[in-house]
Amino acid sequence: MAVTQSSAVTTCKLLVGGEWIDSSATEFSEVFNPSTGEVIAKVPVGKTDDVNKAVQAAKEAFLEWREVPIVERARVMFRFKALLEANYEEIARCVTREHGKTLAEARASVQRGIEVVEFACGIPSLIMGESMENIARNVDCETIRHPLGVCVGITPFNFPAMVPLWMYPVALTCGNTFVLKPSEKVPLASMLIAELLIKAGIPKGVFNIVHGGKESVDALLEHPDVRAVSFVGSTPIAKYIYEKGTKHGKRVQSAGGAKNHIIIMPDADMEQTVQALQASAFGCAGERCMAGSLALPVGEAADQLVPMLVKSAEKMRIGRTDVGENADMGPVITAQHLKHVRGMIDKGEAEGAKIALDGRTVKVADAPNGYFIGPTVIDQAKPEMSVVKDEIFGPVLSVVRCETIQDAIGVGEKCEFGNGAVIFTNSGSAAREFKRYFNAGMIGINVGVPAPMAWFPFTGWNHSFFGDLHIQGREGIQFYTQQKMTMTRWFSDKSGKFQDPIWKARQK
Ligand code: NAD
Repeated sequence: MAVTQSSAVTTCKLLVGGEWIDSSATEFSEVFNPSTGEVIAKVPVGKTDDVNKAVQAAKEAFLEWREVPIVERARVMFRFKALLEANYEEIARCVTREHGKTLAEARASVQRGIEVVEFACGIPSLIMGESMENIARNVDCETIRHPLGVCVGITPFNFPAMVPLWMYPVALTCGNTFVLKPSEKVPLASMLIAELLIKAGIPKGVFNIVHGGKESVDALLEHPDVRAVSFVGSTPIAKYIYEKGTKHGKRVQSAGGAKNHIIIMPDADMEQTVQALQASAFGCAGERCMAGSLALPVGEAADQLVPMLVKSAEKMRIGRTDVGENADMGPVITAQHLKHVRGMIDKGEAEGAKIALDGRTVKVADAPNGYFIGPTVIDQAKPEMSVVKDEIFGPVLSVVRCETIQDAIGVGEKCEFGNGAVIFTNSGSAAREFKRYFNAGMIGINVGVPAPMAWFPFTGWNHSFFGDLHIQGREGIQFYTQQKMTMTRWFSDKSGKFQDPIWKARQK
């Protein structure tokens, strides 16, 4: 059992060597249902000792798992995919309960995770190496991809099922073993999904879970038997993970925070744009690293866009997501985060921006202790303001009115981050200029959230990513493997000029 139940509160266990065991920690942090503020689980703060046990189990399991033929490893993923689909609704409900996003959003996120498992099912044909015959006389050359060993995943709160699934299906199918450290704010979905992976036939020790925060993470980064670390979270921690992990000789891919710009040209279809912008800015209560959090309307687009967006967004129903499906938007993750989001809006107002739609006043009658804030539009913001420069990670859209597309692209140029950027337009040349020159790694043209599907890499730039090989797609396979090149020469006759006798015979 992944959890022990005492009243309604779950105590999370570690998964080590195929068994659910208690942590050696004596302190626990709390997991909340953000819709109600109730504590639903306790998660051990994590200890170096827990990490040592999990890494040891993964190290031992690697010796056998690497010998399992890749098609058999892929078959575990086929069974895992079927189990994820069969338990889709339960996983989505678990995500909603611990994270607060709507059930529709949770379902969509689980679907995105399943797609990574589908991708992993195809790894046998994607992992194949290259070869060349007779690269020199009698010499052939080939490359083969080998697994690395023990790999680690450290994940954020905002996608409890999807982000861990970005990592381990690929790592495991490539032949590695894995230790996952899910966010201590949302550990439950990972544990539920681990039960399915066990049912799918993953051998003991191949996949392990530890919990906690800094102590566990540091122990993973310092452990000599860990070969690679995948991280997703905020930029300061992403940078820390990259620097510390590489210092300890690990391969690291580390995805950080974001501020995603959305340019709206005057020729854009305004109805469609408003719908897409609303979904991008306020979907998942703005807690997405690909959320459109900064609108850059060009020329007269602003006068049309802002009133239309405010009119539409103020109709959004804010409410509990753990019961019923009537809410369009749920709470943010914790009381502390709610305070941060409110504080950022206060700061924008104090710096002189105009609050065109104010979510700070929202109350949810049947959930007075939930962490709710409504959609907020901050108009007439200036590039130097904190609401433009910093990630807010809540349902807050800042608007910087620009005179030209070049001005809008210029705002992006100064941005610390570089995850996504979007343009809404009917002009091919504007779209082309934007695509070519905007300083971000994932581009949307009339697409509100250009988050790539499993077959493509998640190509954040600047301080939205530290490392070389991104998560997902073929880069994911490259990250979790190392190449071995073999050069072979078979001596033929003494002259070194072997003449194939059959070939000779055919010439007659
Ligand atoms: P976070 O950085 O606070 O936590 C992420 C992970 O790091 C957690 O597992 C946490 O336990 C661990 N951690 C936290 N503080 C640590 C410390 N001092 N030392 C070592 N480990 C530590 O991020 P979060 O609040 O859980 O998630 C939200 C952030 O994640 C946002 O900034 C968002 O943009 C980002 N995010 C990025 C992507 C992407 O692909 N670029 C995707 C999803 C989320």
